[in-house]
Amino acid sequence: MNFLTNLLPRISFPPALKVKAGRRIELKSESEIETMRAAAKIVATVLKEISEMTAAGMTTADLDDHAEKRIREMGATPSFKGYHGFPASICASVNNEVVHGIPRKRKVIKTGDVVKIDTGAYYEGFHGDSCITIAVGKVKPQAQKLIEAAEEALYAGIAQVKAGNTLLDIAGAIEDSVKANNFTVVEEFTGHGVGRNLHEEPAVFNFRTNDVPNVTLKSGMTLAIEPILNEGSKLTRTLSDRWTVVTLDRALSAQWEHTVLVTDSGYEILTDRTKV
Ligand code: MG
Ligand code: MG
Repeated sequence: MNFLTNLLPRISFPPALKVKAGRRIELKSESEIETMRAAAKIVATVLKEISEMTAAGMTTADLDDHAEKRIREMGATPSFKGYHGFPASICASVNNEVVHGIPRKRKVIKTGDVVKIDTGAYYEGFHGDSCITIAVGKVKPQAQKLIEAAEEALYAGIAQVKAGNTLLDIAGAIEDSVKANNFTVVEEFTGHGVGRNLHEEPAVFNFRTNDVPNVTLKSGMTLAIEPILNEGSKLTRTLSDRWTVVTLDRALSAQWEHTVLVTDSGYEILTDRTKV
């Protein structure tokens, strides 16, 4: 049975890359984990800087320029640039844009905007991947609530990361968190394994599903967990640039993502911005 054909998942980044079932989930060795820590730290550093510098009047291209410059200064290459033809080092998705927004010189950031910045760095053979949502100046209360609920959903999922738990534990915790906050979770994009490849097995779902095999977490797995929450309908469509995904009802969307290591006792957030 080709169980992934009908049900997604477009992992959150390439427009139509499908995770193929049955591929081995790679467990990273101690030295590989050390390299992933370094790759992820570069991502965390860049996102921390962007969160601090983003302001009304800047363009999303300004943020992309900064990200690329800093990733290269730190000895890495941007994971996204050229990936399936993506033209930039960050995805910058504003307000009703859900994911894969292309940075543009004409896209001026305004007070009240909800700006998602997703980036990845490739360092000594391994990738780190993380996304933040920035409230630019004072945003509407419902926007603030959505941003906080999206981060809460990410951490609800991360709290389930532990050797012996399963992907369904993560998915269920995210789903319950989103529902408790009365938002919806986008279903056609998922998290993913990350390591030598930006996207690798397994697909990390943000809602309960029995349509894919459940996976028991093992120490040494590295996962990108990245729930996307919508203010209104969970449905999306892709714009004619073939990258930018927007909400069907034009309502807001928010997303946070971390690269997380599974350990015997729990987890380690490799893209932790508080440690850079
Ligand atoms: Mg990402
Ligand atoms: Mg990702």
